[in-house]
Amino acid sequence: MYCSKCGAQNQGDSVFCSKCGNNLAPQPTAPQPSNDVIKVQIEETRHLIKQNGNAFGICVVGSVVSALIAVSIPEVEIVLIVFAVLMAIAAIWKWQVTAKYSTKKANLIKMLK
Ligand SMILES: [Zn+2]
Repeated sequence: MYCSKCGAQNQGDSVFCSKCGNNLAPQPTAPQPSNDVIKVQIEETRHLIKQNGNAFGICVVGSVVSALIAVSIPEVEIVLIVFAVLMAIAAIWKWQVTAKYSTKKANLIKMLK
């Protein structure tokens, strides 16, 4: 067998490379998670999607309401416009987080056997 690191030829039953000392024993591959484990992860991801989706909705409503109040009450206009912008930024962020978890969920579903 040939060393994967230095390419030196070693005896078939060698555990370490005689030239560089590289471990020649077959590396254990990470076990595939079982369907049950994947299903739990999908459920957790689904929960996170729902949470972040709700937060996204609250931010959108908060942003729109702040903007509407800012238009009708000039005295607090600046404060509410700043608040509306912050809420809009938070909404975009929550939307991105939700999209990320949606991709993760799709990948998990693909892993199901
Ligand atoms: Zn070697």
